[in-house]
Amino acid sequence: MRFDIATLFPEMCEAVMGESIIGRARRAGLIKLYCHQIRDYTLDKHRRVDDSPYGGGKGMVMQAEPIYRCWQAVCAQLEEKPHVIYMSPKGSVFNQKKACELSRMKNIFVICGHYEGVDQRVIDKIVDEEISVGDYVLTGGELPAMVMCDCTARLVPGVLAAEECFTEESHFGGLLEYPHYTRPEVWEGMEVPPVLLTGHHKNIAAWRHEQAVKITAERRPDMLETSED
Ligand code: SAM
Repeated sequence: MRFDIATLFPEMCEAVMGESIIGRARRAGLIKLYCHQIRDYTLDKHRRVDDSPYGGGKGMVMQAEPIYRCWQAVCAQLEEKPHVIYMSPKGSVFNQKKACELSRMKNIFVICGHYEGVDQRVIDKIVDEEISVGDYVLTGGELPAMVMCDCTARLVPGVLAAEECFTEESHFGGLLEYPHYTRPEVWEGMEVPPVLLTGHHKNIAAWRHEQAVKITAERRPDMLETSED
């Protein structure tokens, strides 16, 4: 799977996506991720990529042309057109189901906006969908893009040690995950739940499921209405 990120801050994306599990997956060739400086695609001699909004108002708007040219350059490297996502607070809110859907795609091109956003015409021309990371506004699309790419990339086969690493996690099967414990057996007077020390896999699985249902009912009762369990 390949991600191409169009951004004014490629170093910011590289710093995040070069570390930990995703960084390792990139080095192992399990995923490809390229960050593209949108300024490299402007025809303006001062490398400007924004201008004031038609109709007036505060703030600047990112111009269509540099983003379009960046997308064209990426398309020229690919066998098939990428799925194009514009990170936007106006988009549909990202979730685990969307991450699963995206993880099955071959190429994803992500546009990170700044200022007031990007010229609507480039959205109309090349964007397949707008995705938000939540009902709040950030200064730029880089953090949302990193959230989306990280969450999607870890679902690509081989990125995590085993599929159970994510199939048993919160949100995957419609429940929040059960609590975890590790050594020592007693910490600050608090004991590990005895069933976890028995080695009885069936009982442990039953206890974990019970805990997952309980924690979901307490914290996110809305999820149980749509859960398969
Ligand atoms: N004027 C825009 C609005 O009211 O919808 C907000 C622009 S925001 C300051 C600048 C950029 O940050 C956006 O173009 C988008 O790429 C990104 N952004 C901000 N909040 C976001 C969110 N919740 N989800 C995804 N992207 C977001």
